[in-house]
Amino acid sequence: MFIMSSPSGAGKTTISRMLLERDAHICMSVSCTTRPPRPGEVDGKDYHFVSQAEFDRMVADEEFLEWATVFGNSYGTPKAQVKAGLKEGQDYLFDIDWQGTQQLYQKLERDVVRVFLLPPSIDELRRRLTGRGTDSEDVIAARMERARSEISHWDGYDYVVVNDDIDACFDKVREILAAERMRRARQTGLIGFVRELMTP
Ligand code: 5GP
Repeated sequence: MFIMSSPSGAGKTTISRMLLERDAHICMSVSCTTRPPRPGEVDGKDYHFVSQAEFDRMVADEEFLEWATVFGNSYGTPKAQVKAGLKEGQDYLFDIDWQGTQQLYQKLERDVVRVFLLPPSIDELRRRLTGRGTDSEDVIAARMERARSEISHWDGYDYVVVNDDIDACFDKVREILAAERMRRARQTGLIGFVRELMTP
């Protein structure tokens, strides 16, 4: 379970997309959310867009591995898809916030890798959150405040990568994934091979 969190504007969506395109062994955990789709977002691919009533039912029926309220909307990771895949050794990428990260870590510590992406500077973050110049000062200030609040939780992560160059950041994220896959505890498939090597 490879978790990537960041404030919006740190380039997480781009890095996720690159990882999914170039690594055949990881797929996205698609969350449920009560927020309305943004232009271009596809139901079932970016999110499962559900009503608050449906979300509440899923919470009551314990269908989520974790769930949280993020800036006024509900978000959750459905258990069904991920649990079946994990059993078969499938790796999953999670784009979830710090609250969901904490919940997954508490439940499944050994299977979780937590990565936090930071923007290169406060000016660059402001530039990325300013959009096309059509947003009011208040809207931009609110976005900056959200970003600061997200960043304050960076200490709940195993790895921190500053995204000052998208390709360099991607390489670092890939190196983390590669190293974590080589942890002995995750290479149970090697047990037979190692026994063979040790047999006189
Ligand atoms: P957005 O609405 O911009 O797609 O996402 C807002 C925030 O919700 C992001 O920080 C994203 O990581 C987080 N998020 C998305 N899906 C989930 C989820 O299933 N669980 C939790 N805890 N956070 C999520």
